[in-house]
Amino acid sequence: MTVRVGVVGTGMIGQDHIRRLTRVLPGAEVVAVADANPDLAREVAAGLPNADVHPTGQNLINSSGVDAVLVTSWGPTHEEYVVAAIAAGKPVFCEKPLATTESACRNIMKEEVAAGRRLVQVGFMRRYDAAYRALKRTVSDGVIGAPLMYNSGHRNPSVPSHYTKDMAIVDTAVHDFDVTRWLLGEEFTSVQVLAAKPNSLGEDLQDPLLMVLRTESGVLVTVETSVNIRYGYDIRGEIIGETGTAALADRGPVVLRRDNQVSTAVPVDWRERFVAAYDTELQEWIDAVASGAGATGPSSWDGYAAQVVCDAGVAALYSGERVDIELIEKPDLYG
Ligand code: NAP
Repeated sequence: MTVRVGVVGTGMIGQDHIRRLTRVLPGAEVVAVADANPDLAREVAAGLPNADVHPTGQNLINSSGVDAVLVTSWGPTHEEYVVAAIAAGKPVFCEKPLATTESACRNIMKEEVAAGRRLVQVGFMRRYDAAYRALKRTVSDGVIGAPLMYNSGHRNPSVPSHYTKDMAIVDTAVHDFDVTRWLLGEEFTSVQVLAAKPNSLGEDLQDPLLMVLRTESGVLVTVETSVNIRYGYDIRGEIIGETGTAALADRGPVVLRRDNQVSTAVPVDWRERFVAAYDTELQEWIDAVASGAGATGPSSWDGYAAQVVCDAGVAALYSGERVDIELIEKPDLYG
């Protein structure tokens, strides 16, 4: 079965996912697009073999020719489209964030629970990265004993002019929060945010930041965000266990020894670093939809939990205090 996908939001990541679904991955066809900018939607559809342009996302979601929905519009619009897809009984892949407020995430969970089955998957692509998967296996196989600490590093060469200091948490560190919850299999209980000496390249951003978090079992987690570090896009992660440590390896395909130096490439940006993870993420989603499973990847609960950590992180950034993280009881649907 070819899954007929409708895409709401044809901006940067929407176009990248459309490219994947059309030219890289088997099992899906993009048959419909919609965007707040209709000219952009028409331009994107013109490059596809068989895609209709819909006047609104709601119209696309309710179209009988669409089996599953990809939401890649701007974050504040996600709730309405995800809820509409649930109401239509259609699987929906929503780019992160699931929604931009805790109450919107809870509303999505309420609707999905009422529908009685998982339909929503959130775009936390790090869970599909080969290195993170190997790191998780190392921990779950007990190779380094129980995890005691996890240090996560998220370094960007630069950020666009609309980037605000809150975005270091809600846009950047959100990936570290999600992947840490997944690696350790537990929730966070508190967060504190420390600002380093500011990078003069970041103007009024408080950059870099060091976030210090605790999990339910007491694991100490640090997340460093440096978003103006120029040298490249560098994702780091090391778990300190009772009997050893396990870290993401450096990435370059070759190690160069030359002129008294050893070097390896650092990715230019997140698209290069996670290109294979995005492919795997969408392929597994298509396969789950085709098999009738609805959604198997990061859930609405994961989107909700990440949003609560982000909200607490922003509060901690402004107050300088440690902020407790409290989640509602997890609905049975999310296991
Ligand atoms: P973008 O380039 O601005 O694209 C978003 C598109 O959605 C724009 O064309 C925008 O139109 C359109 N849009 C806005 N409101 C809409 C509405 N109500 N209905 C339909 N379309 C609407 O943004 P992006 O970088 O692709 O990001 C999109 C989402 O993906 C964000 O939630 C972002 O956080 C997420 N993302 C995730 C990753 C990841 O690593 N997983 C990476 C990048 C982005 P206008 O420009 O006219 O408003």
